[in-house]
Amino acid sequence: MAGKKSRRYNYNRRPLWPKPHRYRYKMPIEFKLIKLAIILLFVFLLLLTTSNIGNKSKANHIQDKITALEVPVEVTEKIFTKAKNNNKDAASLLASYVVGKKPGFFSSRQSKKNYKEAVDCYKQFIFDLERFPIDRNYDYAYEDTWRSERTYGGSRKHYGTDIMDRQNKRSSIPIVSMSSGQVENIGWNDMGGYRIGVRTKNGAYIYYAHLDKYAPNIEKGSMVESGDLLGYMGDSGYGKEGTVGKFQVHLHIGIATKAFGSDEEWVNPYYLLKYLEKKDVEILKSRGIF
Ligand SMILES: [Zn+2]
Repeated sequence: MAGKKSRRYNYNRRPLWPKPHRYRYKMPIEFKLIKLAIILLFVFLLLLTTSNIGNKSKANHIQDKITALEVPVEVTEKIFTKAKNNNKDAASLLASYVVGKKPGFFSSRQSKKNYKEAVDCYKQFIFDLERFPIDRNYDYAYEDTWRSERTYGGSRKHYGTDIMDRQNKRSSIPIVSMSSGQVENIGWNDMGGYRIGVRTKNGAYIYYAHLDKYAPNIEKGSMVESGDLLGYMGDSGYGKEGTVGKFQVHLHIGIATKAFGSDEEWVNPYYLLKYLEKKDVEILKSRGIF
């Protein structure tokens, strides 16, 4: 009859107490693994969200670090040797050094982005720069003036390296191309005077400014090899065409890349120049010249 409990003895009934051991519920191993996987997934998601909480100023700071490219000569040498011997990408190794170590699996999206941006940036010129723009025998000097204050053309920062002629004599120091590439710009601009801009194979723009004279046969569209004469050091610029004498005779070197969403992101040439200068000396030494 409905609603009435059966009086018949239920053989499946187990006593509630004491609970015999064999009736205790044992979670199957598969369930345990699923439970563990869910916990790990939560921990992973938690790590992912917390590590992505970075602010914009931190990103800008990294961007500054990437463009300042402060890598000591010895480190650059090690990186190039390591890249060559292990068939590795020098731009990636350089990026690892500048932005910190290569980001791992648990790294934040921002640090992965920083690393990728640094690699993309360095790839555009690191393989193209082959030599120092001035022969070692000339009396020149240069220091790191990256982002120091300049006043001509309004308050601005210095985005390059100035190699000074210690004798301060126009046209006494020849300037050669640091890379092979194509002459993209030649002629006067008020800031840089007589300047040349060479586009390298991997896409960087190498800017040589304040020249006194150009090498013969160099014009817009010319193809140049590294070591080819571009012109002579001077003090042109800071005014209308032909202006000279506003500063000491020097060569301004600029290196621009496409990076951080900009078509012209300048990087600090100083440490690279130091590296190339040392490399040139070693080549000369190996030939018994220096
Ligand atoms: Zn300069």
